[in-house]
Amino acid sequence: MDRRVFLKSGAAGALALALAPGSISAASKGRSSVPAAFSKAAPLAGSYDIVVCGGGPAGFIAATAAARKGAKTAIIERYGFLGGMATMGYVAPISEFAFNGERVIGGLPWEFVQRLEALGGATVQWPKGNVDFDIELYKLCAQRMVLEAGVDLYMHSSLIGCEMQDGTITSVIIENKNGLESLAARRFIDATGDADLAWLAGVPMQSNGEGEVQPSSFCFVLSGVDTDSPLLQRYMYHSGKKGSSECKPIREKLLEINGLPDFGGPWFNSVMHKGSVAVNITRAAVDSTDNRNFTGAECRLREDIFKFTEALRSVAPEFSNCYVSSTAPQAGIRESRRIKGVHTVTADEYVAGEHYPDSVSRGAHQIDMHSSKGTGQVLIKLQQAAYMPYRAMIAGGFPNLIVAGRCISADRKALASLRVQASCMGMGQAAGMAAAQSISEGCNVQDIHTATLVDSLKEAGAIL
Ligand SMILES: Cc1cc2nc3c(=O)[nH]c(=O)nc-3n(C[C@H](O)[C@H](O)[C@H](O)COP(=O)(O)OP(=O)(O)OC[C@H]3O[C@@H](n4cnc5c(N)ncnc54)[C@H](O)[C@@H]3O)c2cc1C
Repeated sequence: MDRRVFLKSGAAGALALALAPGSISAASKGRSSVPAAFSKAAPLAGSYDIVVCGGGPAGFIAATAAARKGAKTAIIERYGFLGGMATMGYVAPISEFAFNGERVIGGLPWEFVQRLEALGGATVQWPKGNVDFDIELYKLCAQRMVLEAGVDLYMHSSLIGCEMQDGTITSVIIENKNGLESLAARRFIDATGDADLAWLAGVPMQSNGEGEVQPSSFCFVLSGVDTDSPLLQRYMYHSGKKGSSECKPIREKLLEINGLPDFGGPWFNSVMHKGSVAVNITRAAVDSTDNRNFTGAECRLREDIFKFTEALRSVAPEFSNCYVSSTAPQAGIRESRRIKGVHTVTADEYVAGEHYPDSVSRGAHQIDMHSSKGTGQVLIKLQQAAYMPYRAMIAGGFPNLIVAGRCISADRKALASLRVQASCMGMGQAAGMAAAQSISEGCNVQDIHTATLVDSLKEAGAIL
């Protein structure tokens, strides 16, 4: 019987030093296989039906969906709050629930929006169904939904490894203030955005356009802004009626300033508080799965935040008294690792709205590919609302792993649409329900009756 533990190489190195100096093969960056004895250093903290890794839009919805199906579910999240890029990256709005004015994403994602709206933390902008939100109320609402469903929540817990037996993941290893711990489960959902669990387990990854990725952007909140001004009233909402979200007059003035770093937009997004806006302007194309690269890029982008704030003060009277009231916990990542699944969604089929027999979620946002340098952006309108097939969320040979969110199997261009939050939430619901179904059907995640899954999703409000 082949029983092995896979750890990120840094974590494996630390364990090797603590337990058995010299017993581990060196790897400068990557996953390492270590003797199963290392799992003894990570005592079992819980046994579950389903463990969800990552508490972003895909993950917290997946955990809620799985628990509502009666599965004993846990979710692990490295920050102290849920929401992923919405709350750790200040990425707004939640895009997009509607296509041509008709809502195409329902179910749990829409329930979340309605609950957030009822708390006073969301406003839906029609006809596209973009959702402006209050960052702090988003965290509260997501946490309530997960806990009410009976999910065990492991916050401040980073996934650093997994244990495998004969090709099946048997447990994940997390690191938190308790030290190392392991969580055993029958099914696992990777919603880490970066496919961390799939990568640790050895799932093949898409080759990412010869290393080219869409840029990361470090978003921040500016306060002291004249949000009642006609300019901000036009540009900080996303109804599709008030004009482009690109703030062209300001961009043109910024382009005239010598020595400003690369930038995108700028996009100013409502945070639902008078005087404050979330700003998306900085950019750096970087491999966010490499710690040193990402650290270097974030340090540079933090400097850039203050350069742009000063520039905005000088070019636009609406910003003359503005100041940085908060920077996101981390720079936002548009593109990183994605699995090579049973099916890879291509831009051609996505834009054409191809319907698959196993369509489990939808996408309504145009393809929105940010160039790795400069202000450029490739925008491709969808011919109709797109579909995501279940087969893009599973990989052959990994019988108990489902992937949800921006790390599913898709080419770069299709990713440039399906990565938006409403789509990721839809995939999360499908992943949670599919994992629970595979347990009740007693089969691998590859062998579930997809027609039954589609019916259950429709019953739960998905619009397929
Ligand atoms: C600058 C920028 C602008 C964007 N603009 C928009 C927009 O206007 N509208 C829109 O809808 N979308 C937008 N997006 C895209 C969208 O925010 C993301 O693609 C989406 O949040 C992806 O959801 P996810 O759940 O797949 O992953 P994420 O949101 O990345 O969530 C992953 C979660 O997993 C956790 N995690 C990761 N690794 C580990 C680990 N090893 N251990 C434990 N936890 C872990 C993370 O902390 C996080 O909570 C934008 C993105 C960026 C970067």
